[in-house]
Amino acid sequence: MTGGLWWDDVVARADDWEEEERPRRRIADDLGYPDWVDMVTARARQHPEDARRVCWGCVHDRGLKRFVRWAAVARTCDFCGRRSPVDFAAPLYELARFVEGCLRADYDQPENVLFYDAESDTGWAGDVWDNRELLEDTVWADERVVEALIGSFDTDLQWCEGEPALFMPEDHLRVSWETFCDYVKHTSRFMFMRPDEAGRRLADEQDSTLVRSTEMLDLFGETIEASSLIQTLSVRIKLFRARPVENGDWHETADTLGPPPKSDTGPPASRMSPAGIPILYGAFDETTALAEVMTRTGQASLGVFSPLRPLKVLDLRADRPVPAPTIFENASALARGLPGFVEAFRDEIARPVTRDGREHIDYVPSQIVTEYIRRVYRTAAGDRLDGVLYPSTKNPTGVCVALFATRADIAASVGARARRDAFLRFRPRSPRRLRVRLGRDGRVRGVNAV
Ligand SMILES: [Zn+2]
Repeated sequence: MTGGLWWDDVVARADDWEEEERPRRRIADDLGYPDWVDMVTARARQHPEDARRVCWGCVHDRGLKRFVRWAAVARTCDFCGRRSPVDFAAPLYELARFVEGCLRADYDQPENVLFYDAESDTGWAGDVWDNRELLEDTVWADERVVEALIGSFDTDLQWCEGEPALFMPEDHLRVSWETFCDYVKHTSRFMFMRPDEAGRRLADEQDSTLVRSTEMLDLFGETIEASSLIQTLSVRIKLFRARPVENGDWHETADTLGPPPKSDTGPPASRMSPAGIPILYGAFDETTALAEVMTRTGQASLGVFSPLRPLKVLDLRADRPVPAPTIFENASALARGLPGFVEAFRDEIARPVTRDGREHIDYVPSQIVTEYIRRVYRTAAGDRLDGVLYPSTKNPTGVCVALFATRADIAASVGARARRDAFLRFRPRSPRRLRVRLGRDGRVRGVNAV
């Protein structure tokens, strides 16, 4: 068995790359719930009928709760003893069949999959689990329910991964992303999107279903909205922008505190944009804005920009959990891999980078992704994104923001004709002259007005 429709689709396409018309990857499964349950239970065995009923309060996994509600036929639970005025408990043997069917998306019997290996403890060349091990690992429910399920499965049934050569759905996207990062850092930086690019099979990975470099960005785009990673910033926010000051040369205008000009000497390479392409970095608080730009104790200018309209941003703050569907939910293998994927690109984008020359390599994946969301990506409603929020690496509670702004996007910017669709304004009375003291760990220890 494989991991559902999406998985089959990928495997099929891995053998058929040349085909022009390729279906879009799907985050959500197209099947309605009853059809999906039918499909799932059809691949499980019958379980011995058992008079016991289990209520949805006795199972904790969201997918199991939903199934129990859906299959409920009784108003008394034989596990917790509770009663309900409406049907809220399902037959245990139906739950067992559903659980088995779901598990068969990813797991199989070793005799179908693994080679025999007389040398190994289990007799099989690969990891093997018994019912207890598999069910205790995957089913989140009251202990008594787990025990009853174990009793309902054959006692000597053994399990292993259904596709030992492939990554499990939870890991598939994360590994694809990590392979992509490695690829654009060390193999192909500018040509990776061409379908005829030789590296489309993403290096030496055994798993040919890994997402190809050519598809990675579209997949990225498709996942960010599905993962609720797009946020709207109100016009009331303050975006603090800091710049170190050398030789008493204070920065106090929209031009000196705003996005750097296009020029052959700058702007330098940064986390979100390669050298030469302007972007505006800031933070939602003063300390973070200062911590991000200061490398040693010294003077800094600080000023404030505000949006002229609500801004749509990709939100990579770590405090926003990505919903993680379990194996018991009607979600595609792709959706199950999302949390790991989002975590991995969050890590890649927010990782502290030492400015020792290697940053030109380490920043490449986040620069590519940023350029994609800046130039190509549109939300389902057709909107462009205005920037990216990400956790500060210099101030643990701080949030950084990179806005896709050039000088032309700042209203009333001196020396540049602001476009009518400018989306930021500089607050002319905001600039402050500061002396910033850094601790040995690079954290801001003190800020004084100069
Ligand atoms: Zn119960």
